[in-house]
Amino acid sequence: MTNINLSFAALTAEDKSVTIGSQPSLVSALTGVQSTLSKKILITDDALFMRVILRNFLVSNGYEIVAEASNGREAVEKYASCKPDLVFMDITMPEMDGIAATRAIKQHDPAANVIMCTAMGQKNMVMEAIQAGAKDFIVKPFNQDRVLESIQKVIG
Ligand SMILES: [Mg+2]
Repeated sequence: MTNINLSFAALTAEDKSVTIGSQPSLVSALTGVQSTLSKKILITDDALFMRVILRNFLVSNGYEIVAEASNGREAVEKYASCKPDLVFMDITMPEMDGIAATRAIKQHDPAANVIMCTAMGQKNMVMEAIQAGAKDFIVKPFNQDRVLESIQKVIG
């Protein structure tokens, strides 16, 4: 028993999250709290209605919205304070755009999971977003299946 505890303690935080992620039934048996498994998401968009649409959709699919940001600077600050599992990042925003914010977040946390939200006709921004560290991108207006598929792909 002691050996098992020691070997688990020797894992890094990242190893633990991988173990936890692949064995949800074991974790809920250990903690008895299913809600600790819900993924925390930060939504970033300067358009309130886009944040509302995304929030309602994600919450109805069991995700927890830990924060919302209306520009890139706010997203960087809220990422640092909330430590979300995933960020939805709009590209075009005042003060700091989504590309610059993604770069800043990845500098702070290279493991950060960012999905870029692009508008139609912003395809040229996609390569820049990927280079900045975004792991996937979705096109507005959102297709619900595509949003869920992207989340699975990035933090599934
Ligand atoms: Mg925008």
